[in-house]
Order: sequence, then structure tokens, then C-alpha cells
Amino acid sequence: MFLSVPVYRMLLRTLLGFLFVVPAVATGSETGQTDPPPPPLLLVSFDGFAADYLKRFPMPNLKSLYSQGVLVEHMTNVFVTKTFPNHYSLVTGLYAESHGIIASNMYDPDTKKHFHISNNTDPSWWSEAEPLWITALDSGYKTAAMMWPGSEVVIHNRTATHFLPYNPHMTFKERIGNVTQWMTGDGKEEGAKFAAMYWEEPDKSGHYYGPENTTMMSQVLKEVDDNIGLLISELKRARLWGQVNVIITSDHGMTQCSRDRLIALDKCLHPDNYTLVDLAPVAALIPKQDTTAVFNLLKNCHPHMTAYLKENIPERLHYRNNHRVQPILLLADEGWTIVKTGNVLPRLGDHGYDNSIPSMHPFLAAVGPGFRQGARLSSIQTVDVYPLMCRLLSISARPNNGTLAHTRCMMAGERCWDVPLVIGLVVGVLLVLSTVTVLFRYVGWRRRPLSVRDFQRLNADDSDDDPLLE
Ligand SMILES: [Zn+2]
Repeated sequence: MFLSVPVYRMLLRTLLGFLFVVPAVATGSETGQTDPPPPPLLLVSFDGFAADYLKRFPMPNLKSLYSQGVLVEHMTNVFVTKTFPNHYSLVTGLYAESHGIIASNMYDPDTKKHFHISNNTDPSWWSEAEPLWITALDSGYKTAAMMWPGSEVVIHNRTATHFLPYNPHMTFKERIGNVTQWMTGDGKEEGAKFAAMYWEEPDKSGHYYGPENTTMMSQVLKEVDDNIGLLISELKRARLWGQVNVIITSDHGMTQCSRDRLIALDKCLHPDNYTLVDLAPVAALIPKQDTTAVFNLLKNCHPHMTAYLKENIPERLHYRNNHRVQPILLLADEGWTIVKTGNVLPRLGDHGYDNSIPSMHPFLAAVGPGFRQGARLSSIQTVDVYPLMCRLLSISARPNNGTLAHTRCMMAGERCWDVPLVIGLVVGVLLVLSTVTVLFRYVGWRRRPLSVRDFQRLNADDSDDDPLLE
């Protein structure tokens, strides 16, 4: 086969055209015309939904949802990987050290107050940040918070337009029924533009059975998936499906614990030496007297527990810069449980560990007019969700730790460079070009009778034979 020069040039143009057209497709289109009002946004959290549950259990309703939208397989959450810190990070875009909800159990040395998950509505705990359901009010939007941690708290003198405090007896159907009413305005008033909704499973069962109990967890995850089916059908019934953006995500994952992996503090330190603010798997201690002496007793206490003085907590955890972080922090390795004394395992499954551990990560799925169909991302961070939501709602984000660029490829109509795809295409096209060039030269060489004169002519003037030298 011989490629003539015009055919070769045409091939070259086609390949280069392909190379430059594909990024244009990947960047999407921007209309630049008048902006229609943004669609409403519903954020739903299923507490303790580990990313790997998606691979281990069928979840047909959830899979159907993200097949029409976006799936982020892993989300790196904030340390500590607990419910309250991560739910506040989702709606503020801040690390725990910046929003102040640093744990599920806290002590504030300035106010001398204690925070527990059952006693958490004092505004002073929450006012270091502002959740999206408050910020969105400034844009003239109505908002809603259904049992999301902090829902009923008066933050910066305001609450969401609609909210309900946590009530474990209210079913999922009742919760989503209320939320759809708030979002439609029930036909009487303007609907909520942003709603956040909380559901306590599969966290509750993950603690109770342990995530490795596949028999029980498959039942639990089936119920969770049935609830996602219910969510879709309720949104369809309210004629919101396809009109609103929906994000389904979680605060953290879950890992298996064991009676064989207990760390008893009493073996290292008499309890009279400290006050315990939080225990497992991250313990927060206030030494009663000599901090260094207490720390020295704890630092070699157990090979599966790391002790930190507050000032030495690793920067990557974004945790030490808050006055509610206590002088000593103890961090158990994955699957290990810190107890004060004895050998009783409090929970078969737990979370709270280092946020670099994959089992602590949740996932994120999204669907709606603001999202690309069929987009897949391997990971983003929990703090990235807030700037994404502000963008979807056309709201100016408060200062935050998230990065909008991390989520651009999820959104319809946003410029997006799929870097691996583009690199792959460039390498692929270069390989094809090189192969064609070699073939072309080889065939050209074979056509020509060998003679000293031909080589002399090629050496003197070969510009017509090699278009790459033009
Ligand atoms: Zn939990």
C-alpha cells in the first residue's frame, strides 16, 4: 500500500482535527445567554454509607439514579470521620478546625460548655461557620433542613425557612414527604430552593452488626436502596424529578472492630490524671496537671495507638487549629477501639479514624439538570461539595476549604478538561502519526530503485517527500 502525499496530508489533518475537537466536546458549551433561575437543590445524607457498600451490595435504585447523572466513587471526608463534623463540612465547605464542630463530644475551654450529640443546639457551638441553608436566605431563597445536624440551631440569628429537629421515630417516607412539600411550596407559596435531609442508616446498623456481617448488612442496604427508590418516586409524584438537582451522599464509612483489638487506657495511665472529653476511636484528653508527663505515659501505651500533643497533630488532618481541640489527642489504628478499662467491645463497627483510610470514605451520587449524564469521578473531597452546591444555586460561596475545579466535570455546561482522556488521546494520536510516518517512509524507500543518484537527489532536496518537514 502506498500513501500519496495528498492522502497523507488529509490523514494528518483529520487526526489533528480529532485531537482538537475532542477537548472542545469535553469542555461542553457555555450559552452566554440570559441565565434562567437555577433549579432547586436537594442534598440527602445517608449516615455511614461507606463507599465500598456500592461495590458489595446491588443497590439497583441508587445505580439507576447515578446512571442518569454522576457518581463519585470515593469522597475524602474531614477528620475526625464522625457524623457531626462531616455533616457541617458538607454544608459549609470547611474543615473541622475551621467550622468548630470538631467532634461528636466536645468541651469548650472558653465557655466551659459541653457538647454531646443529644445536647447540641446552643448557637455558640455552630457560629464559627454558616451553613448553606442560612447563606442561601441572603439570595432571597427559601431553604429547608430536615434533621440535618444543626437544623434547628439558630445560627447568626437565623434558621432555615423550614426545619425539623432530629426525631428517630419519623420514617423516611414522612421525612421526604415533608421535604417535597417544602420544595413545591405545596402549591401555595414559593418552594424551598435548597433542602438538606438526613437519614440515620446504614450507620446505626453498621455499628451494631459490623460492616463485615454481609448477611445483615445486605438487608440493611436493601432497605436503604428501597428508601432511595421512595425518594425518586416521591420526587416524581411531586413533579420535581428532572426539575431539581439531587445529591445523595454520606458523612463517613465504617470499619469492622473486634474484641481482639481493644486499647485500654487504664493500663497506661490512672484515670485521676486526666479528664476524658471523647474516647473512640479518637480520644481527647485534658491532663489535670503535667501535660508532658501524661503524654509521655501515653505515647508508648500501645503499638496501634498514636498520641499527639495538640501542636503536633499533623497539618494534613486540618484539625489542630481550634481552641476546642484538647491538649492530647489519641488516634487508634483502623479497626482498633480505645476503651477506658476492661475488655468489652462497645461497637462491632466504627468510624472516626484517620480520613486517609479508604474504609472511612463515603461516596457521592448526583442527578438533575445541572449534572452531566454518565460522569464518573474517582474522588473529590467532602469540602468540595459546598462550592459545587453554591455554583448550582448561583450563590456566592462564603470562604471555604473546597475547590470548585474538583467538581467541574460533574456539572453540565461547565468547562471541563478530562486530563487522563486528553493525555491518552495525545499519546494515541502521536503513536498513530509515528507509525504512519515510518510506513510512509518505508514504502517510499521501497518504491525507489537503489541508485547512487537517487540518494544524492534525496540528500540535496527531499522537501517534497516529507510533509512533516514543511
Ligand atoms: Zn456512627
